Amino acid sequence: MSEPQKNDWFNTGQAAVAQATLKSGGGGAFRFYLKAGTEAQIIFLDGDNTPEEPAFNYREHQYDAAGARAPHYASCVGAARGCAFCKAGLQPYEAWPFTIIQIAPSWTDRDGKERTNERRLLVVKKELMQRLLRYLQQHGGLTGTIWTVYRSNKKAYTAGDDWQFKQKVGKDGMKADDRRKAVAEFLKIDPERTLRIAYAEELRPQSEQELLAGGADIEATKARAASWGPSTPREPGGGSREGSAAPAGGGRGKGAEVEY
Ligand SMILES: [Zn+2]
Repeated sequence: MSEPQKNDWFNTGQAAVAQATLKSGGGGAFRFYLKAGTEAQIIFLDGDNTPEEPAFNYREHQYDAAGARAPHYASCVGAARGCAFCKAGLQPYEAWPFTIIQIAPSWTDRDGKERTNERRLLVVKKELMQRLLRYLQQHGGLTGTIWTVYRSNKKAYTAGDDWQFKQKVGKDGMKADDRRKAVAEFLKIDPERTLRIAYAEELRPQSEQELLAGGADIEATKARAASWGPSTPREPGGGSREGSAAPAGGGRGKGAEVEY
């Protein structure tokens, strides 16, 4: 379909891109995230913002969940349609999802299995989206582009504050489908692993009931937002000073392991 999709909780195409230039508050995190002082190499599997594959934009909340070791995310439908977080007075932020493959480093999952070339959801906020948008406009799309991304400190973007373009896989003028095939060849992986994530499904808003059943702790999320904000790391007695100077470790309570 070439018509930009209209929907209650997301924008696509030009409407999605237009959101990157609007002012709004909000903080939050990225699904793909780097710990401070680390880097990764990623390749985009989409991000051309063509009529066939328009950019996707929605609002999101980051929240605390009982027993969780990482932040959780909920797509926002707005207070009027019953968003539990909006109703609690929490502000959503604008978000743009992309499908990427993390080329390096590989990582070890909970079962001790080493994973390489994993497909991941990269969700970016406005500031990074604006930078990516510049690249997109200058170089005709993000699909197939390889970046080294580095996060210099705790206060920096969790998806890295230093983005270095490395190369673009495929030939000039390639359509996204063909470029993804070129990426599969380049990485020597099954082409099936280079398919885009279906965002409207993957990011489908959950009902308040579903969120609560999943452990969403709205009071804890509210308390954190009120005390130090979703994008500011909690430092013992140190407010939001330079993260690297803060003592490592410390509490392992709710949220303590998470670098927001
Ligand atoms: Zn909301």
